[in-house]
Amino acid sequence: MNPIKMVDLKGQYEKINKEIDENISQVIDSTAFINGPKVKDFQTHLENYLNVKHVIPCANGTDALQVSLMALGLQAGDEVITSPFTFIATAEVVGLLGINCKFVDVEWDTFNIDVTQLEKAITPKTKAIIPVHLFGQSCQMETIMQIAKKHALFVIEDACQAIGADFIYTNGEKKKVGTIGDIGCTSFFPSKNLGCYGDGGAIFTNDDEIARKLRGICNHGMFKQYHHELLGVNSRLDAIQAAVLDVKLQHLDEYNAARRKAAEFYNKMFENHPKIEIPTLSAFSTHVFHQYTLKLKNANREEIIEKMKEAEVPVMVYYPIPLHLQEAFQYLGYQKGDFPIAEKLCESVISLPIHTELTEEQQQYIGKHLIG
Ligand SMILES: *Cc1c(COP(=O)(O)O)cnc(C)c1O
Repeated sequence: MNPIKMVDLKGQYEKINKEIDENISQVIDSTAFINGPKVKDFQTHLENYLNVKHVIPCANGTDALQVSLMALGLQAGDEVITSPFTFIATAEVVGLLGINCKFVDVEWDTFNIDVTQLEKAITPKTKAIIPVHLFGQSCQMETIMQIAKKHALFVIEDACQAIGADFIYTNGEKKKVGTIGDIGCTSFFPSKNLGCYGDGGAIFTNDDEIARKLRGICNHGMFKQYHHELLGVNSRLDAIQAAVLDVKLQHLDEYNAARRKAAEFYNKMFENHPKIEIPTLSAFSTHVFHQYTLKLKNANREEIIEKMKEAEVPVMVYYPIPLHLQEAFQYLGYQKGDFPIAEKLCESVISLPIHTELTEEQQQYIGKHLIG
């Protein structure tokens, strides 16, 4: 059995190395390293895949979120609502722009923002909601869009962990996550479901005017050469990364299917275990399993992590501290107990290796050591 890794990027590369190497060498031959035709090709292919009008490639997922807030004209003193159970980037950019970050607790079952608690967090200063499709499953976007419309709020989807997942409307219609709100953001960090070989990100929108702003802000606020309408940033996707992504995009559905299959295999091993709660599948979303995250019940997580380490099985805790209790967010004035579900999840969750190259033999070994 091969050593078990949290993600196996080498194994994945070996299956597509000819296509990747060929596409990268075309970029080098052309020397069109910035905004070259490879970036444009990938952009068009991703627009088609997502069925969205505009994809704006950028440097990383964090920039995608920051540029989105800037393009919507959000300013210091405004308020944005998001989840306290996510990677810091989601709320970090809010804070960096001087915008007040308000958290709303998550649901125990799906790890995603609890839409029943959204409205009571809205104030006259609230300008936007950032739902985070955590671990690969969509938030309840139909309800979120209804609430946003009622209160005239923007919606920026953080789809960094869920590219390729479908949101399923009550009437059965499906849309790719990230294409439902005013703006969607994703990351191509190497370990994400669609990852490049460095940093990368993209922003999605169906609105022409928002798209124009996003493009301009990613390019120093420049809309006409050397005419700067506003202050922007320098955030671009490298042509070499676009070459990698354009190849991997063709495999994305197959990669997500492999993750789902691995998740089902794990589920069968753990579903009746008294100390383990397997991931809940929501009726309104497909799951692309960026992470396979269990909740431990009446179990000593530290001991389990130690045991897995001895068996050379990497496991991770996403996330050990909710954002409202992070030192960096102390200034927001939140306290322990403010978001009890997020806090309890931080104490209960454990994520197992899940990737496109995981074998059933490896999964059996992982399962044996986790529950044996
Ligand atoms: C990875 C991630 C980001 C940030 O993406 P980077 O490309 O690393 O900047 C933002 N939000 C979530 C939920 C993420 O998982």
